[in-house]
Amino acid sequence: MKLGIIRCMQTEDFCPGTADFQAIREKTGVFSQVTEEIILIGFINCGGCPAKKSVLRARELIRRGADTIAFASCIQKGTPIGYPCPFAKKMKDLIISDLPDNIRFLDNTH
Ligand code: SF4
Repeated sequence: MKLGIIRCMQTEDFCPGTADFQAIREKTGVFSQVTEEIILIGFINCGGCPAKKSVLRARELIRRGADTIAFASCIQKGTPIGYPCPFAKKMKDLIISDLPDNIRFLDNTH
């Protein structure tokens, strides 16, 4: 798996992504069923509220080799402060409608 992660820009002040990297390393969370090697292509924020730029971030991750786009858990679960993104559904719909057919999308990381 060649993985590109999109995270919440607002959450960067609270979190350096430690749990995301741990989940990849230890194949836990959403990666628990992944048998292949996981190569992290990029880890980038959404571009800020209201997430209109997120589709450009996904495109860039794919251009650089990602075959899977994941939302970091901060976006839909609201970790680590219990505050999910109010634009998450729109952001997900926007990204998925723009993804090539061969690219997987994961809702969370850990
Ligand atoms: S759009 Fe959502 S994910 Fe992006 S910075 Fe704002 S709250 Fe965070």
